[in-house]
Amino acid sequence: MKEKKESVLEKIEEIRKQLGALTFDDETIQAMRDKIASHPELGKAFGEAYGKYSRGESIRPTLGNEMQIFYMRERQTLTFLLFPELLKLEYEVARMIGESVMADQMGGYTLPEIMAHNEPIAERDKYAIEKVIEADDKHAIYRHYECADCYGVPNIGMKICAYEAGTAAGCFSAALGKRCEVTETKCCANGDPYCEFLVTVVEE
Ligand SMILES: [Zn+2]
Repeated sequence: MKEKKESVLEKIEEIRKQLGALTFDDETIQAMRDKIASHPELGKAFGEAYGKYSRGESIRPTLGNEMQIFYMRERQTLTFLLFPELLKLEYEVARMIGESVMADQMGGYTLPEIMAHNEPIAERDKYAIEKVIEADDKHAIYRHYECADCYGVPNIGMKICAYEAGTAAGCFSAALGKRCEVTETKCCANGDPYCEFLVTVVEE
């Protein structure tokens, strides 16, 4: 029985090893942009959805835009628990979403201005209560209280909010015109009472 369990775990390890080889260099990231650009109908649909949302209109005729968040949390928490390597993939895909879909919502020119302008959006859209802790031209720190992704998730020793980090990286990079990276340094799924994110401006 014990042997059987070990061989099953080895199966997961095998897949993790394959996923661990994923790399996202500049060329790959540009290829991801090109792929998304080859589907302009998607960008258009996403833009129209945001437009409807901001006018208080529903995307779905009967059920509206809201749903409880458990489905999303269960799906992604177990995905990352089993295959933590996918956090990197999620981060890079989310960067594309930030760049191509959400960047329109940004305002301000300097990083502190951008952070201040962005702060109320999380609470408006109900994915967290955001507080900017510090911000200068090179870096910023912000927190998410009651994060939709991880608040109430037990401590599994992981920082799982790669979607937030990636979209933020994409949005801030687009708004600033300089590449930014965002790292989650605290997370409810890691035993912390809130998520904390470090924004770093990568000079080019
Ligand atoms: Zn988190």
